[in-house]
Amino acid sequence: MKQPSLGNPQNTIAVLQKYQFVFQKKFGQNFLIDTHVLDKIIRAADIGPDDFVLEIGPGIGTMTQYLACAARKVAAVEIDRALIPILEDTLSGYENVRIINQDVLKVDLAALAEEENGGKPIKVVANLPYYITTPIIMGLFEKQIPLQSITVMVQKEVAERMQVGPGTKDYGALSLAVQYYAEPYIVAYVPPNCFMPRPKVGSAVIRLTRHEKPPVEVKDEKLMFQVIRASFGQRRKTLANGLKNSPELDYTKEEIEAAILSLGKGASIRGEALTLAEFAALADQLLLSRSGS
Ligand code: SAM
Repeated sequence: MKQPSLGNPQNTIAVLQKYQFVFQKKFGQNFLIDTHVLDKIIRAADIGPDDFVLEIGPGIGTMTQYLACAARKVAAVEIDRALIPILEDTLSGYENVRIINQDVLKVDLAALAEEENGGKPIKVVANLPYYITTPIIMGLFEKQIPLQSITVMVQKEVAERMQVGPGTKDYGALSLAVQYYAEPYIVAYVPPNCFMPRPKVGSAVIRLTRHEKPPVEVKDEKLMFQVIRASFGQRRKTLANGLKNSPELDYTKEEIEAAILSLGKGASIRGEALTLAEFAALADQLLLSRSGS
C-alpha cells in the first residue's frame, strides 16, 4: 500500500489547485494539514489490521490515506459531490477504501456495519463538520449501530462539554447523553493553524469508548432523557420548574416535588447539580408515581 502523501500544506494546496476546488462553508470544510495531528488521531483510535473504520467527511482524503494503511477496510462518507473525483484520485492505490457520496445523517449505518463488518462493533474516526457534531454523535449512539469507539475532532468547547461532570458551567444534556453511552477522553487540543482554511474556533480530538453496558440502570431510558432535556432547557430555573414547564413531560407539581425529595434533594436544586445516577433515579421515581394510577 502507498504511504500517505497528504497531510502537509504543500501537497494539500497542489491537490486543491489541480481540481480548482472551492471550499464550501456550509459543509464545515476545514482540512487537516498537520501530520503530527493525523498520527495522534490514528494512534488514539487504535486501529488494527482487522478493523473496519467508518470515516465521516473525508474531504480530499488526507486522513483516509492514514486509515487505509492501518485498517482492513475504510468506508468514507462525503456529502460534497465536488470532492468525489478528488478522492478517486488521492485514494487510487488504496484498494481497501469505499467512497460513499451521501449525507452521513441519511446513510443506514447499521446496514453498512452489517455488510462490511458482519454486524461486529465498528470504529468511527473523523474530523467532523462542526455544524452537525451533536446530531452525528447522538445518531451513532441512538440508532443501534454496533460501535466500539468514536475518535473525532470537534470544537474544543464541545469536547469539554462531553467530558465534564456536575457542578460545572459546561455540564448539560450532551455531557449526560455521551457519558451514558461512552467513556469520553480528550486526546489532544488542536490549534486553528493545523487546518486549511483556519477555523475561527479551537479544536480537540476526543475518543468516546462505548460502554458495554450503561453505567447506570434506568427503567425507561426515553423518560430519563426527557427529564435531562427538561432540566437543562431553562438553565436559570430550578429543577422542579424545568420539569413542570417541559412540553415533553406531564407530571404534577406534587409528583415532581416528591420525586426530587426522594433523591434527598431540596426543592430549590438545579439540574446541573445532579449526576447521571441521580437523573436515572429521578426518572424511575416519576415512573413509579404513575404506575399505581
Ligand atoms: N477529513 C478531512 C480532513 O480532515 O482534512 C475533512 C474534514 S472537514 C472538517 C469536514 C468534511 O465533512 C468535509 O469534507 C465536508 O464536505 C464533509 N461533510 C459535511 N457535512 C457532511 C455530511 N452531512 N455528511 C457527510 N460529509 C459531510
